[in-house]
Amino acid sequence: MKYRIHGGSLVTDTVERADLLISDGKIEAIIPTDAPSPREYEIIDAVGCYVSAGFVDIHQHGGGGADYMDGRAEDFYLATSAHLAHGTTSVMPTLLSADTEGLMRAIGGYKAALSDPRIKANLLGIHIEGPYISPKQAGAQKPEHIRKFNPEEYTAIADFAEGNIRRWSVAPEVEGAADFAKFAEKRGIALSIAHSDADLDTAREAFRLGYRHITHFYSCISTVTRRNGYRVAGLLEAGYLMDGMDVEIIADGSHIPPDLLRYVMKFKSSERIALITDAMRAAGQSVSESFLGSALDPLPVIVEDGVAKLTDRSAFAGSVATADMLIKTMLKIDTPLPVAVKMLTVNPLRMMKLDVNKGLLKAGYDADVCIFDEGINVKAVLVMGEVAYRA
Ligand SMILES: [Zn+2]
Repeated sequence: MKYRIHGGSLVTDTVERADLLISDGKIEAIIPTDAPSPREYEIIDAVGCYVSAGFVDIHQHGGGGADYMDGRAEDFYLATSAHLAHGTTSVMPTLLSADTEGLMRAIGGYKAALSDPRIKANLLGIHIEGPYISPKQAGAQKPEHIRKFNPEEYTAIADFAEGNIRRWSVAPEVEGAADFAKFAEKRGIALSIAHSDADLDTAREAFRLGYRHITHFYSCISTVTRRNGYRVAGLLEAGYLMDGMDVEIIADGSHIPPDLLRYVMKFKSSERIALITDAMRAAGQSVSESFLGSALDPLPVIVEDGVAKLTDRSAFAGSVATADMLIKTMLKIDTPLPVAVKMLTVNPLRMMKLDVNKGLLKAGYDADVCIFDEGINVKAVLVMGEVAYRA
């Protein structure tokens, strides 16, 4: 199909009125709104709307009542569809700490999802969050599934995944992290630091080994501690001090309150920030009770005030955010729209080395496009040049 997205304001480095020509899955050209176009282009009306690159979520556990740990292609369909309606055209399905069998089941689901014609969103590869993390920063990850690096296990998991693991979030202070870094490099897996109690020196050493990203900055990471009276910096400080270290933030407005979001935007280059949902299964649903992880190994949670919490309300247990909510949150703290959009499109793709011809509204790039109104309500979504969602 050939489409002309007409009359909208294109969000690139700036916001300007122009039309987008799309053919063969690619952005063909950006042309003036009043320029004539050949007849064969079907017009998509975007008058009064913004038109941006499709949103990219590199940390998402589920949505629409499904969790990727459930491990069926159906679950991938339900979750990606729920998020597609909120503008997410590309997703990295994220797996929680589980036993080997649980991880394998979810990976099997991902492989089945790759050939499921109902799934419209781009599947960018699997993100595994755990199980080689610190029990001291477990958050909502089940303690019984947390363990030391096990080369036999991670090799078997990666072999079974057949090249489909693109990202792995682990704690670099856990025994075996250096060998794991070598392994990840060989397999083309991006390393992130997550659920970690590492100090700044350990973070520096980890960066040298290839750990270039901090998973959900502020959540389940170390900060300043005292050793015999002396202050020691942690991962939070590492994120700010190390210019080359990327961070991702759950911009649902709850995990990091508005003033702290302002603080992140003030002291970290926005080029090094990705917005993520970290959404669990209740995202895109209106429920007050849900559970985290696989239905076979569930952790009950309550959903209130727009966030998932452990039942004793002692901690958050993932978000119920969708991509449009992240944009809204960032606009509320006066982030310019083009900057917010970059943090949810090209930045995460660049961090995962997946930004080749993807994530920008530019001729020759994949036609992943999101059309939304002034209130950031998603009106239409195109994936690889085809209409995948219409409000
Ligand atoms: Zn997560």
